[in-house]
Amino acid sequence: MNNLLKSVTERAIKYQQGLDSRSVAPSNEALEQLVELDVPLQDEPIADEEIIALLDRVGSPATVATSGGRYFGFVIGGSLPAAQAATLLVDVWDQNACLRVMSPISIALEEIALRWLLDVLALPHECGASFVTGASMANFTGLAAARHAVLARAGWDVEAKGLYGAPEITVVVGEEVHATVIKALGLLGFGRKRVVTVPTDEQGRMRVDVLPSLSATTIICIQAGNVNTGAFDPAQEICAAAHRAGAWVHVDGAFGLWAAAAPDRAYLMKGFADADSWATDGHKWLNVPYDSGIAFVRNPDHLRAAMAFTAEYLPQAYKREPLDFTPEASRRARGVAVWAALRALGRKGVADLVERTCTYAARFADGLKAAGYKVLNDVLLNQVLVSFGDDVMTRKVIAAIQADGTCWCGETVWHGQVLMRISVSSWATTETDVERSLNAMVRLAHEQAAL
Ligand SMILES: *Cc1c(COP(=O)(O)O)cnc(C)c1O
Repeated sequence: MNNLLKSVTERAIKYQQGLDSRSVAPSNEALEQLVELDVPLQDEPIADEEIIALLDRVGSPATVATSGGRYFGFVIGGSLPAAQAATLLVDVWDQNACLRVMSPISIALEEIALRWLLDVLALPHECGASFVTGASMANFTGLAAARHAVLARAGWDVEAKGLYGAPEITVVVGEEVHATVIKALGLLGFGRKRVVTVPTDEQGRMRVDVLPSLSATTIICIQAGNVNTGAFDPAQEICAAAHRAGAWVHVDGAFGLWAAAAPDRAYLMKGFADADSWATDGHKWLNVPYDSGIAFVRNPDHLRAAMAFTAEYLPQAYKREPLDFTPEASRRARGVAVWAALRALGRKGVADLVERTCTYAARFADGLKAAGYKVLNDVLLNQVLVSFGDDVMTRKVIAAIQADGTCWCGETVWHGQVLMRISVSSWATTETDVERSLNAMVRLAHEQAAL
């Protein structure tokens, strides 16, 4: 056992040391090797060391180097060393964060992490929270609390009676709502298509001038950080209008919520703290290992009512039990990595991480513009949308960049155009990484144009 943990740590260190010199995407040879794993299950046990050796030899080269400094696809953070090491220890602890009595340490750290999160994200201190797998489940969780509260106010017990015969709820979303919010609405019985869609402006922000009428049976979903442009919905106006009408405001802030942590970006988050529930990710901008998402609900009673096994009110002496606030019962102690990341960075470290990655995004935008390419969004956060010409040419350049392996960026279709999306979200990205990647992008784009 001892030796196995030592050898796996040595392999992990070697993997990490190789990140800078390898191709960001796995090579074709590495992918072809995966057939080696595809064998029928044997009858006899196999030695542990042999399993890990195989996993490392065949598995490690077939990974995408998302924990390195030159991965700019989707919105993917890396792993801060403290958070990564804490996760290794948590795996060895093998704690179940379901109940206080099962793992006092997991629950203690989760609660401290929650307090610190509310502090750095500038959210109301009274919020309850749920540590879940990611923003998808965080959106689901926040919206489940919304469903409870809005229907309870209308005199309906949704946990007991479901949605059959319930007062109708109107769900309002922006035209550029993230797909996971729509999926969560479907899971909650609201219907993926039974939403009122508000048109968005040229940056993908919800247009307040065409907001539909809101009422006490409305849930409005706004976003902090459009997944393409990084734009923020006008939260202040929307929250004011929604609360005048008694409606519930849910915020999808998978990465954008973290703008609140950086003094120079916090203006983007204006008004978002007035909402009723929020979803964010730990595994994106906070750079904790997968999987980590957090749902916050201003009034913890609504969250508990939606998630607890019993809807009966608990005794005054009640101590928060995680399973009363999460969709799951048994659960890994995911709050520990969040705690470790915040403890390692401090308020200044979080601010610097957010600010630095935003500065790198702006550098990408400036460098690409200077090379003659078009940047489609206002780069106020960490997202850059770039066109290398028409859709066909942009696709060719993206394919060339991915094959070259210096860095990795993905494709998006936004406002009818194929674009390359650059998202700078990793603590590991350095200025050198940015310059190296920018040079590769410009070189490959020129090459494609010359073909
Ligand atoms: C990534 C993302 C999600 C989904 O988060 P997961 O962690 O993948 O579940 C939701 N909304 C936005 C804006 C995102 O960027």
